[in-house]
Amino acid sequence: MDNCLFCKIAEGQIPSKIVYQDEDVVAFEDTNPQAPYHILLIPRRHITSMADLTEEDGTLLVRLFMVAAKLAHKLGFDESGYRFVTNVGPDAGQSVFHLHFHLLGGRKFTWPPG
Ligand code: AMP
Ligand code: ZN
Repeated sequence: MDNCLFCKIAEGQIPSKIVYQDEDVVAFEDTNPQAPYHILLIPRRHITSMADLTEEDGTLLVRLFMVAAKLAHKLGFDESGYRFVTNVGPDAGQSVFHLHFHLLGGRKFTWPPG
């Protein structure tokens, strides 16, 4: 999609620190990290948020979750624990309207979240 920051990152038009990519999924470091490890996982295909998912996206979603779990293991924070979240709309503070999951690790997180 034109003028979508994360589509441009997925296409390599905007530089990012990519930690994993395949034909469906791209994972890159968040430029404003909220934890020692803060990685964003996106589908290459433009989807605005989880509100726009359909049944056909089931396999893609499993891929995103599995890539996140494998990255947490590879980077060494799977055993201490991590958080995997997506923000939808204004109350959650969604600022980029291309579906993305935050993979956060390397510190203790509070619950309920702020
Ligand atoms: P959200 O607020 O859930 O929409 O998350 C958007 C995230 O994208 C924020 O954590 C930002 O720090 C991050 N972000 C914004 N621009 C970039 C960029 N060019 N490269 C990597 N992360 C970015
Ligand atoms: Zn996009």
